[in-house]
Amino acid sequence: MNDCLGVYVSVPFCRAKCTYCNFASGVFAAERMDGYVARLGGEIASVQPRAQALRAELPRTVDTIYLGGGTPSLLAATQVQSLFGALRSEFEIAADAEITLECAPGQLEDETLHALLRSGMNRVSFGVQSFVDSESQAVGRLHTREACLREIARLRSYGTEEINVDLIVGLPGQTAASWRESVEVAITTGVPHISLYMLEVDEDSRLGREVLAAGIRYGAGRVPDEDSIAEWYGAACEWLEGAGIRQYEISNFARERHRSRHNVKYWDRAPYAGFGLDAASMLRSGDDVLRFANPSELDVYLEGDSGSALPMLAERPPVERIGREGQFEEAIFLGLRMNDGVSFSALRREFGEALVRGLNDPLDELCEAGLVERDAERRRLTARGRMASNEVFSRLLVVSA
Ligand code: SF4
Repeated sequence: MNDCLGVYVSVPFCRAKCTYCNFASGVFAAERMDGYVARLGGEIASVQPRAQALRAELPRTVDTIYLGGGTPSLLAATQVQSLFGALRSEFEIAADAEITLECAPGQLEDETLHALLRSGMNRVSFGVQSFVDSESQAVGRLHTREACLREIARLRSYGTEEINVDLIVGLPGQTAASWRESVEVAITTGVPHISLYMLEVDEDSRLGREVLAAGIRYGAGRVPDEDSIAEWYGAACEWLEGAGIRQYEISNFARERHRSRHNVKYWDRAPYAGFGLDAASMLRSGDDVLRFANPSELDVYLEGDSGSALPMLAERPPVERIGREGQFEEAIFLGLRMNDGVSFSALRREFGEALVRGLNDPLDELCEAGLVERDAERRRLTARGRMASNEVFSRLLVVSA
């Protein structure tokens, strides 16, 4: 684990709200973007005193930046310049930093792209979700397969080879054949990174609410059943593996040496600072870990007075202070998300023998149930365990609570 900081910047503006979306994002008037970027600049400029007030360690060197959202590809070129100007004033950005842009296909103007490339952007994550046009359009995406393929070629023509494609399994109307088609097209593009997400059905999206209410709007009546989704996800893991795109985390697959360095920080418990709407941070403070997040309401976020004493990070959101046992739990749950699993000797070094010993019995049971596998050094989820990860985590939570 290195000691550099990861930076996440949320840009919550979208051209249209996808029906399955449960992020803090929305369709806001374009004029609000200027105010938002100014607010971001203020938040970044005041990060050092705010970290000091929390007695948090804020590494000065940044080796990953992730522009997410929302649709950060909608930023204007001048807004990109202003954002990176603010980041460079506060932080040392490593020469080999990974700088990722989340991009909706067809929503990245040339001028913005050039400003991003000048700012060091070297990785793009495309929110494709499905290469089957009827499926992507049914959930409100505004692109076609052709547009996605053109965008991938366009980015490559500028030398950006680090490209990710997001796909969702479980979209309304999806079938075993159409899912296979989406995954095959993604493989055929040759991109080095693919993320597979299972449709999240919850109260935070229009589609999720409709499914929960057994309604039919937004195609809710045509959402595949849970067993099919699990089966298709498992099949896709095998297709990707067969194509040399190996799973390294529950939702993430990459060719050799193409993992997302930024996202790996989350699972490795490396420090990161989040700026913007709903952005989360994790910083160390002596032996403790501090976790906190910005407001998820745009008006509340914009109200924050970045020039005053301790805005946002210190006051509004509660700061969660995580001690040794909480960190131990996080090390297990986050570590098990990775296919590399959890190293028991590393756990012993960091947390001591007594805590680690408490895991033996539940892990033995999970091994017998075929959900976890072990060797002398590591414990990791099996393929079945990855599909039932919530069950595994809840069984371990009972033990560590
Ligand atoms: S899924 Fe992405 S593009 Fe769609 S509404 Fe949510 S944040 Fe915006």
